[in-house]
Amino acid sequence: AVRVRFAPSPTGNLHVGGARTALFNWLFARNQKGKFIIRVEDTDLERSTRASEEAMIRDLKWLGLDWDEGPDCGGGYGPYRQSERTDIYREFAERLVASGHAYYCFCTDEELEAMRKEAEAKKLPPVYSGRWATATQEEVEAELAKGSPYTYRFRVPKHSRVAINDLIREEVSWSTDTLGDFIILRSNKQPVYNFCVAVDDASMKISHVIRAEEHLPNTLRQVLIYEALGFKPPQFGHVSLILAPDRSKLSKRHGATSVGEFREKGFLAEAMLNYLALLGWNDGTVDEIFTVEELVEKFSIDRVTKSAAIFDATKLGWMNGQHLRSCATNELRRMLGERWVQAGILTRSDGPFVDDAVELIKEGITLVSDCEANLLDLLAYPLHQTIASEEAAAILADGFPEVVAAILSAFDDGDLANAIAGGESTWKTWVKGVGKKLSRKGKRLFMPIRLALTGSMQGPDVGQILAMLQKAEGTGAVANEGG
Ligand code: GLU
Repeated sequence: AVRVRFAPSPTGNLHVGGARTALFNWLFARNQKGKFIIRVEDTDLERSTRASEEAMIRDLKWLGLDWDEGPDCGGGYGPYRQSERTDIYREFAERLVASGHAYYCFCTDEELEAMRKEAEAKKLPPVYSGRWATATQEEVEAELAKGSPYTYRFRVPKHSRVAINDLIREEVSWSTDTLGDFIILRSNKQPVYNFCVAVDDASMKISHVIRAEEHLPNTLRQVLIYEALGFKPPQFGHVSLILAPDRSKLSKRHGATSVGEFREKGFLAEAMLNYLALLGWNDGTVDEIFTVEELVEKFSIDRVTKSAAIFDATKLGWMNGQHLRSCATNELRRMLGERWVQAGILTRSDGPFVDDAVELIKEGITLVSDCEANLLDLLAYPLHQTIASEEAAAILADGFPEVVAAILSAFDDGDLANAIAGGESTWKTWVKGVGKKLSRKGKRLFMPIRLALTGSMQGPDVGQILAMLQKAEGTGAVANEGG
């Protein structure tokens, strides 16, 4: 059975890299009808905080991920925080000592430092060469009787190779001679990171370890621990890095990098998820827009690429626009309505005015948060007559007053109001009528009408803008800002 985990260290925010790792694990689990587990790696007690754990959980939930086991919901293989598993690590460490795969090391810091210096002088790797690897039972007992402090060291097999068949990077292997006997429990009996990860993955029956490439070097130690404990190692899949468009390491100076920042900017979770899924994966076609359900159905680890992925915020913006437009209109109306009320543009988040406004501005938006500005633009015409461009000057020079006069007279006798209220066809008929009277057509007709009525050279259909405003005035939906 597939059991995968996302194992964040709660020392900050959930970044796009971590979110992508979580997503690949989740998609794989859901695609394979397996289990997805959250394990919090808080062995670094100084840097780990509960606030960071909670924020990460919130961000994962916002993205739409869910899990079968985790620190917040429990499960059959808990606890799911490493800080609560210390007894388990100690027990496994004792087991390794009993089987001869680990030993107590009584070397003092001074001895270790001398060894390190000697190796350095001989240009050898800093491999443990102390006597405790081969000490007799009597020597060990004598030290224990004296109460000397000791660490637990893992006995690394000499002159052998460890190979994994990585799901993404294919065969990767290491010589064990690059590695000295390493510490698994410190003298205060606190476990060391790699030991925790291997014990947890083994005891939580993790079948596939899908994680960032930067953890590849840890795999050697972890596989050795697995084997010593008598467990079969899981399948590993090391996902490549995410880089900035300039191919440097993605960092703050490239803009937002945490999931929370994107949420606050008004990105949709669906768009974020879609974009993250394509950072190092594709479905084998040129398709880029997927729903969550489609991603679950199509995801396969075989299609995860070995090369680095580029995080391009512009592309993410484009994708957000795509998702926004395909959003169920109800959902979009709810989101925008709430924002407009919050921004003080509207008094109510419901009503036909909102429906019309959403329809009108839908095409031009990438972010929900853009819409405050867009709506204000739509409403701006009675307040600001901003006519500046050369094009506008040309329109003004081309008999503009006669168009305005025609509009004003239609305004006076109610024709204009009727034309607007009658909908698209009566509006068009009215415009044509003006054209006939003034012998104008095409741009020479439409542009001065647009300019006169909206004060702007572009935007949504003029008839629709006016219809929307007419309705808004009738319902009192537009906030009265004065001016
Ligand atoms: N805790 C590690 C991290 O946050 C993940 C380790 C792993 O997946 O094995 O990068």
